[in-house]
Amino acid sequence: MAMASPTTDAAEALRAIAGEIAVCTECRLAQGRTNAVPGEGAPDADVMFIGEGPGYYEDQQGRPFVGAAGKFLDELLASIGWARKDVYITNTVKCRPPDNRDPQNDELDTCESLYLRRQLELVNPTLLVTLGRFSLTRLFPRQSISRARGQLLYKDGLAVYPIYHPAAALHQQRLRDVIVDDFKNLPTALETARRRLTGTVADQQAAYSADDSGQNDSGGEQPSLF
Ligand code: SF4
Repeated sequence: MAMASPTTDAAEALRAIAGEIAVCTECRLAQGRTNAVPGEGAPDADVMFIGEGPGYYEDQQGRPFVGAAGKFLDELLASIGWARKDVYITNTVKCRPPDNRDPQNDELDTCESLYLRRQLELVNPTLLVTLGRFSLTRLFPRQSISRARGQLLYKDGLAVYPIYHPAAALHQQRLRDVIVDDFKNLPTALETARRRLTGTVADQQAAYSADDSGQNDSGGEQPSLF
């Protein structure tokens, strides 16, 4: 009998999680959703993107980043020769907050502990790209997106590359060039993170200094993301 590959196992486990999310009522965001948005992409992706939460179009379609911000994300991925099928994309909360309000801490805590943590463990990416401030501050509570964006940070065995949320560029044209530049540097950030995992000396030294800045920025607070 043929053995299932690790990728097949991860894909099946991710599908099972998506099934749980589709019927989840563990926080108040379940009340206003049309569809939950579990996430999608390669189950063995090197890069995992974590945004904030579903918007109107995502809620309607049950897929992440399908509105104007999603179109921009597709363009950004294409600009470096990547496509959605090469990465994994999800959000900090899987259900749309009413009137696009910010997700609240208890909603973030619940959704993260039930689903996001397991998705990250299954995909096990080399690099985690946080889109916007919510996913960044789950890891680095005292970081600001304006300061951290475009930097490779490390925490608890994760390599993290913060970028502004693509939706920010829709409302603030001046951020568009910043996001485009940060995406251009994404392949280099991935390669640096990959080399760190395989442990070359020079990259270890660079990583330790990045670790220090990350620890200091967290200021001793206990981030709840992973
Ligand atoms: S946001 Fe997450 S925890 Fe809340 S109802 Fe949706 S899937 Fe469940």
